[in-house]
Amino acid sequence: MAVPSRFILPVAMLLLMAGASSAGAQEPSYVRVSPPPALAEDNHATPALAAPAGNVNAPQAAAHPAAHAVPNPYVADSALKLLKAGNQRFVDGQVIHPNQEKPRRDQLTAGQQPMAAILACSDSRVPVELLFDVGFGDVFVIRDAGNVPGVDEIGSIEYAVEHLGAPLVVVLGHTKCGAVTGAVQGGPPEPGALGELLAKIKPAALAVTTLPADQQVPAAVHANVEQGLKQLTAKSDVLAKAVKEGRTKIVGAVYQLEDGQVIFK
Ligand SMILES: [Zn+2]
Repeated sequence: MAVPSRFILPVAMLLLMAGASSAGAQEPSYVRVSPPPALAEDNHATPALAAPAGNVNAPQAAAHPAAHAVPNPYVADSALKLLKAGNQRFVDGQVIHPNQEKPRRDQLTAGQQPMAAILACSDSRVPVELLFDVGFGDVFVIRDAGNVPGVDEIGSIEYAVEHLGAPLVVVLGHTKCGAVTGAVQGGPPEPGALGELLAKIKPAALAVTTLPADQQVPAAVHANVEQGLKQLTAKSDVLAKAVKEGRTKIVGAVYQLEDGQVIFK
């Protein structure tokens, strides 16, 4: 059976996605990526995270028949439900640390089918897998200070949606965000690339200047997420098309450092 061309990736991309440590000088230019086994057959996945039987996204497969040899077993609503359930366990102190053992790692050597791509802040207090109580292969995470969708971040999300079939994209801000606070407070421009990054958050900061001072950062955090949501489809024809065709859904959320809750918009 022929391997669809979509599963043949430049080796550099493959190593990046697979987390390989080094590339030998004798590596071929291209490496085949076998489609992963269906997650529903993973006996080691927790019941909460295993894809429901018969829930393979048939409309998605029909819309993009050549995109995925094994369709991503998740749909946007089931992915959102699993993320919310995991966050609730985290809030309640009832985490189960699913999909973090060797059998799961072994299974994932064949490929990945994450339930969501998540653009989050690099802030050390926002470890995405922990706050959603998920494990290996569950979420495709992109992080930068201020969860700003620059070209590299958008390209990474496009990869997750187009090549891994991620049915859900989350732009995840958080309270007390230092990058957003910096943009709100203004002052002399930061030198170097940090200044450029903060400039991208500035429109969200300017949108809240009429609010009382103590409300500006919290409001700007939300405005920055809204801005990110708009930019994903405005800057990416690929993502706009995927949304229009119903292959992925893009949602915003804010993680509250204070109580651990992720509030979805
Ligand atoms: Zn932040």
